[in-house]
Amino acid sequence: MERKHNFYAGPAVLPVEVLEEVQKDLVNYQGCGVSVMEMSHRSKDFQAIIDDGMATLKKLMGIGDNFEVLFLQGGASTQFLMVPMNLCADGKVANYIDTGAWATKAIKEAEKAGKKVHIAATSKDKDFTYIPKEFKLSENPAYLHITTNNTIRGSEYHHIPEVPADVPLIADMSSNFLSKPMDFNKFSLIYAGAQKNIGPAGCTVVIIRKDLIEKLNTGTSCAAGLPTMLSYKTHLDKGSLFNTPPSFTIYVISRVLAWIERNGGLEGIKKINEEKGAELYGVFDSSDFYNGTVVKEDRSLMNVPFRLANTDLEPKFIEEATSKGMLGLKGHRSVGGVRASIYNACPLASVKALCDFMKEFEKNNK
Ligand SMILES: *Cc1c(COP(=O)(O)O)cnc(C)c1O
Repeated sequence: MERKHNFYAGPAVLPVEVLEEVQKDLVNYQGCGVSVMEMSHRSKDFQAIIDDGMATLKKLMGIGDNFEVLFLQGGASTQFLMVPMNLCADGKVANYIDTGAWATKAIKEAEKAGKKVHIAATSKDKDFTYIPKEFKLSENPAYLHITTNNTIRGSEYHHIPEVPADVPLIADMSSNFLSKPMDFNKFSLIYAGAQKNIGPAGCTVVIIRKDLIEKLNTGTSCAAGLPTMLSYKTHLDKGSLFNTPPSFTIYVISRVLAWIERNGGLEGIKKINEEKGAELYGVFDSSDFYNGTVVKEDRSLMNVPFRLANTDLEPKFIEEATSKGMLGLKGHRSVGGVRASIYNACPLASVKALCDFMKEFEKNNK
């Protein structure tokens, strides 16, 4: 079996070990006589899978019973809407830090939900090439929303913004979720589409702190009276089983979480990610043939965009890389250039193969 080097931004590479485990259990899951795809989400076998996924997730994140985990559908894009609908009451202002395309989309949805929006900081002035280090909240903030990793631009928060104790911090962690240890307790709500770093497409993980849940449960909450499927309370009350969840995706996620655990948890994963980042950034830092697009201190260890000094050579670069079995290197259509997504499951060997190719391409095209 010839696996290619996978640098797609999402859906993205999964650990081979997990694919093989899923394959082995595909037709007859653990002696149940059916596959996970074919079992009722109300069965005790599926309940065990979802319970295990939730428990492993909490353990990896170092969070306890003060948080609830939800496995929802509709992608991170639906969270852009659910967050303001559920959490921004009348008279309150939804605060956002705008760090590029996905953050901008989140802001647009808050406006569409009819909420008052305040941009607490933005890096638009320099074409989203950095993470703002300061921000200014509005009066009566409902929350502050950040995007911890900017998949398209390749910038990443390496700090957690300090907010006043009564202001919930909310994060879209879709593209760097579980890539490193973080003080997750500082966040009131975290969401992440699974297809970047923790599984196949079809499921969005949402993690909510209990104090925020208590607020949702008060009669005066703006969440009262929301359409059923768009209310966090619906899903919290039923343990993510209000309606049919993306059961097979949840199962694969649980296997990826177990794989992270076997690899030393988030500390272990961080070490590998740092090693991969050092290899790749090292190539364009030691050459004037390739240029990074983000200020050094805010570089992402998950999505690494770069340009060739001679941008006319970029199509050739991507074509040759593809012919050598390296997939997904074309930069996002909104920014062009090259982008290598090197998520948790991207092996060091793939990054090394890319680095070797970059050096060779430079030599042949200088
Ligand atoms: C991919 C991505 C999204 C959108 O995710 P969907 O699951 O496709 O809705 C949102 N935010 C970030 C940071 C992303 O990388």
